[in-house]
Amino acid sequence: MAEPRWGRVLIKLSGEAFAGEAGFGIDGEVVSSIAAEIADVKQRFDVDVAVVVGGGNIWRGMTGEGAGMDRAQADYMGMLATIINGLALQETLERLGQPTRVQTAIQMAQVAEPYIRRRAIRHLEKGRVVIFVGGTGNPFMTTDTTAALRAVEIDAGAILMGKNGTDGVYSADPRVDPDAEFLPEVSYIDVLNRGLKVMDSTAISLCMDNALPICVFDLMGRNLAAILEGDTVGTLVS
Ligand code: UDP
Repeated sequence: MAEPRWGRVLIKLSGEAFAGEAGFGIDGEVVSSIAAEIADVKQRFDVDVAVVVGGGNIWRGMTGEGAGMDRAQADYMGMLATIINGLALQETLERLGQPTRVQTAIQMAQVAEPYIRRRAIRHLEKGRVVIFVGGTGNPFMTTDTTAALRAVEIDAGAILMGKNGTDGVYSADPRVDPDAEFLPEVSYIDVLNRGLKVMDSTAISLCMDNALPICVFDLMGRNLAAILEGDTVGTLVS
């Protein structure tokens, strides 16, 4: 088995990615292709893989707030959306023969284990892909913050931030600004000061305080193996 650049990684998958072209719900083909890539790197590299999934393809707290809902209530709905996505990913990975466990920050004993840090680490050591769902379990937060938090908790070497429709970090939105410049490397503080679209500020601060590198890459570009091989892919925030 190949030695990866990091022995343990946490992959952040945005809910949006699960929606595919439709922009809403779960596109089975997209989930299959993501799962196949994860199963493939698990076979080829001696790497522990944890995943945090978002829920934006189903529901975002801010959407509810915009429509006049109580924000905390709307956020709990968002957290439940991440559980649906996590179960879809679990099912697909297991169909490919990759053992998994889903751990949720919101208790749901019939479908997933509760989040227990030491147990998650044990699963990783046994070669299982651990899918963290339910966000942090707290409203007013995002699954980016969940990714940063869980990555630090399980002592991951890096967060691999899979983006949908962009191959890394730019100085401005390349869809709007023709002068937007691709940034192969950027510091945490630059991300914060320049308001670069990587993660929200809570998540970035947590990574900065714990010197946890973030690799931002195109999720649909079949990049995972290259990243683990140490190739320069996307943007490295460190
Ligand atoms: N959410 C939350 N607390 C968390 C994580 C998520 O309240 O710790 C809610 C929030 O409403 C968010 C939704 O869950 O909008 C879906 O998560 P997110 O927007 O991070 O998903 P992604 O953008 O990755 O698809």
